[in-house]
Amino acid sequence: MPIIVQKYGGTSVGDTERIKNVAERIVAAQDAGDQVVAVVSAMGDSTDALLKMAQEISDDPPERELDMLLSTGERVSVALLAMAIDELGHSAISLSGNQAGIQTNTVHTKARITGVETGRLIEELESGKIVLVAGFQGVSPEEDVTTLGRGGSDTTAVALAAALGAKECEIYTDVDGVYTADPGIVPGARRLAAASYGEMLEMAATGAEVLMLRSVEYAQKYGVPLHVRSSFTGDPGTWVREEDEKMEKAVVSAVTHTNDESKLTLLRVPDRPGVAATVFGALAKADVNVDTIIQNVSEQGTTDISFTVNQSDLPEVQKALQVIAGDLGVAFLIDDDMGKVSIVGAGMKSYPGVAAKMFRTLADAGINIEMISTSSIKISCVIKRAKVEEAVRALHKAFNLGT
Ligand code: ADP
Ligand code: ASP
Ligand code: MG
Repeated sequence: MPIIVQKYGGTSVGDTERIKNVAERIVAAQDAGDQVVAVVSAMGDSTDALLKMAQEISDDPPERELDMLLSTGERVSVALLAMAIDELGHSAISLSGNQAGIQTNTVHTKARITGVETGRLIEELESGKIVLVAGFQGVSPEEDVTTLGRGGSDTTAVALAAALGAKECEIYTDVDGVYTADPGIVPGARRLAAASYGEMLEMAATGAEVLMLRSVEYAQKYGVPLHVRSSFTGDPGTWVREEDEKMEKAVVSAVTHTNDESKLTLLRVPDRPGVAATVFGALAKADVNVDTIIQNVSEQGTTDISFTVNQSDLPEVQKALQVIAGDLGVAFLIDDDMGKVSIVGAGMKSYPGVAAKMFRTLADAGINIEMISTSSIKISCVIKRAKVEEAVRALHKAFNLGT
């Protein structure tokens, strides 16, 4: 029998009525002839509520204990969902990440999945059960609970789909697909029928939080087709899969944004081999992801280096930079009010003038560009956070992405 993996996000299991609705959908999938594995997120905003409690106790809680705490959110929803399916007369079993065989490394709060031990899952499926897995969590080699980073249930679902050879992975969420921009800030945004893994990777990396970046990396690596759709309707959503002939290769498919960038600038660092390696080596050691990097031209043997990081990593970055700046005898600046706006499209690599149009659009809106980075299918501009929403709407209009 074919296996299907479904994932239900926090809003979709936000209260007990919604959990009952999800139970009905899962049962219908089994009745349609599939073996079903469903991954669930914590109910509504409960992960945020758990984090808030931790922060009320400590500014810097031990990360092992944070994982122990945060993993409980998904356990609540998965157990309630098993009860709801039982009420419908079907047989289901809920499993924690550990019980489901999700093995990770030991980087607490943003662990990576290193393998999936499928024995128990297959056994339960073969006995006719619906298998429900608590998303966002796994177990480290030390047998401690780990979590996979915000949005991590997407990655749990894709990893299970890959390990079980599922025919597809359905991501059920509170929007009916992947849009040309966040529909929350661009009311005229349009749903995409399909996106390539490459486009979706760039979109997720530049802020389209509808799919966690790592889940898309995983899906591409193992060729798992993703179907992003609404848990409230029966409508088809957006397919994310290998690029093919039928896929529309729009010059620009989507505008994405982030609101949580911090920009750091190291001033007048010595312009000699090894300096950038020392700076970014130290940040890598602190498990910090660095995004846009700019190094200025050298004047009188020194140069300025600017880079952006996620705002949540700022405390670690400050700690690391204090040491490095001290060693180099230089100062550094922090701009903590930055965001980023990006345009993504598989067609832009063979189409000149896209960057110029983006910069012109931002200029006409009076928005100053502080940093620029590009890939063959993406252009990103770091701008002031207060201007991000205006920039997204202006670019969405300029590239005619609306309905
Ligand atoms: P879930 O809890 O189901 O995992 P998320 O909140 O993580 O849901 O992701 C869905 C949200 O992603 C949507 O409600 C929407 O506000 C946001 N989003 C941002 N960019 C996009 C986009 N381009 N397309 C669709 N949704 C987007
Ligand atoms: N509950 C976790 C979060 O809020 C994981 C997830 O929903 O995917 O980030
Ligand atoms: Mg999510």
